[in-house]
Amino acid sequence: MAERWRTPVIPLAVDQVEQGLWLPDGRVQGEVQMTLRASDIERIRAGYVCVKCLEPHEIAWPVRCQVCGSPMRSEQAAYFAREFGGEITMATRPSWDEELEGLEERRRKEEERARKDAQLGR
Ligand SMILES: [Zn+2]
Repeated sequence: MAERWRTPVIPLAVDQVEQGLWLPDGRVQGEVQMTLRASDIERIRAGYVCVKCLEPHEIAWPVRCQVCGSPMRSEQAAYFAREFGGEITMATRPSWDEELEGLEERRRKEEERARKDAQLGR
């Protein structure tokens, strides 16, 4: 049986995002948004998976990715925070619509409570 750390990271979806990065020399770098499983995001966050090429590693935080040479130990945490923060978290929720409904519901209840508090003069 394959060792667990070897489990490949396979994006559930890769979407080309309209907004690109306009580099100083005039090139436009397209952006992709990857939808990953929550467990895979954790592996990236924990330093086991290269954030650039998604290669799994046996030991967390190698100095460099063995495949693409990305400086995982020094750069990955910051890169991850900068590039992926909210988007990945959002994108990986299987039921984002439900999540939104939940938020809306919570907001309504908050408002209701605030109104009641106001009526009671609190
Ligand atoms: Zn890599």
